Amino acid sequence: MNFKDYIRVIPDFPQPGIRFKDITTLLKDGQAYRAAIDALRELVKDKQIDLIAGPEARGFVIGAPLALALGIGFVPIRKSGKLPGETVEAAYDLEYGKDRLAIHSDAIKPGQKVLIADDLLATGGTISTSIELINRLGGEIVGAAFLIELSYLNGRDKLNGLDVAALVTY
Ligand code: IMP
Repeated sequence: MNFKDYIRVIPDFPQPGIRFKDITTLLKDGQAYRAAIDALRELVKDKQIDLIAGPEARGFVIGAPLALALGIGFVPIRKSGKLPGETVEAAYDLEYGKDRLAIHSDAIKPGQKVLIADDLLATGGTISTSIELINRLGGEIVGAAFLIELSYLNGRDKLNGLDVAALVTY
């Protein structure tokens, strides 16, 4: 399946000059969504993974079904102030903007092998911050999986040789 056919590109969103990759057009197509999760599972199936962690909000839409497909658990990484329990937090830069991410302090046990999942790798800021949070809990990051990689933003270079899987590259 050519997943690019299902991804809509919206110019000048959320600000002028950004060509936003809209995955809602893929998600609403049951076959395409299923095929994307199956393809991601295929890319990571040889890894030893205990847990998937995904950043709010589109990381949930990819990470949770991938976790189910692999038969493992899912850990949400959220914007500051959303998680009810004790958290560990870190500030991060976006392709456009700034924010703080948080994870429950007891979400990952030291030594657990974690795969990070999100819809899209842009500058790598979100994933670098997710990595920092998981590292602080003692988790071992075994890779990252995305629907989309924006290779022209060189996000991979920020990830210190982390094993990155992506279905579609722009
Ligand atoms: P990064 O932190 O710069 O790598 O940006 C990745 C994050 O921003 C992901 O969580 C994406 O959901 C979001 N993002 C950035 N650009 C786009 C886009 O073009 N389409 C959809 N999401 C985007």
